Amino acid sequence: MRIVLVGPPGAGKGTQAHFIASHLAIPRISTGDIFRYNVTHNTELGAKAREYMERGDLVPDEVTVAMVRDRLAEDDAQAGFLLDGFPRNVPQAETLKKMLAEFDSRLTVVLELVVDEDEVVRRLSGRRTCRRCERVWHVLYDPPAQPGTCDDCGGELFQRDDDKEEVIRHRLEVYNTQTAPLIAFYADEGILVGIDATGPVEEVTSRALAALGPYLR
Ligand code: ADP
Ligand code: AMP
Repeated sequence: MRIVLVGPPGAGKGTQAHFIASHLAIPRISTGDIFRYNVTHNTELGAKAREYMERGDLVPDEVTVAMVRDRLAEDDAQAGFLLDGFPRNVPQAETLKKMLAEFDSRLTVVLELVVDEDEVVRRLSGRRTCRRCERVWHVLYDPPAQPGTCDDCGGELFQRDDDKEEVIRHRLEVYNTQTAPLIAFYADEGILVGIDATGPVEEVTSRALAALGPYLR
């Protein structure tokens, strides 16, 4: 299975990616997580990405695409993967298509998580992320047993710098102008399925797995 998750920031891509990838035993590849790791560890890649991320802009395509190419070449991605946060615009989608075609491969399905903008803002403003395992929580909707600590691994939870209100608004604009056109792009390719991503996390996971079911071999 080679799956892409699309939807606005805060739709629940990271949350669902965690469950779907473990259910299907494929790696979850989050470009946002890879960039954040590199920013935290002050790598060369982190230095290239930092200012764009702080503003809520997309990191330039050449930087992002090179990183994804390297990640997809790793052994664990050969039997399938779940991409979360990539592609983020039509040029990235075109490049991904070419990249996979080089290995006689292509995407199996693109799953769109559909949530309205007010809900997305509520979700992003209460989001907390685990420093150690990258699992996402929400202070109200999906709280850990101990505030500030990840139930899964005991890691420390933090609030992302780009989850401040003005940056959230800008990221939504970037989504609407640059990322939303992917919906039509993948619908034209005949590989788009959409699900209602509101309601409890477990219900969304069940809907996601049901929607992916026909594509499982
Ligand atoms: P994305 O990866 O699409 O930006 P996340 O998975 O990080 O979104 O989710 C954003 C926030 O919304 C997190 O705090 C998460 O705990 C919360 N969340 C995710 N799914 C749901 C849901 N079904 N109902 C309520 N809150 C949710
Ligand atoms: P995310 O964790 O998916 O919300 O991504 C956080 C930030 O990382 C985004 O606001 C961008 O600055 C950057 N980013 C993540 N994925 C991409 C991508 N595919 N293309 C460009 N920038 C990205």
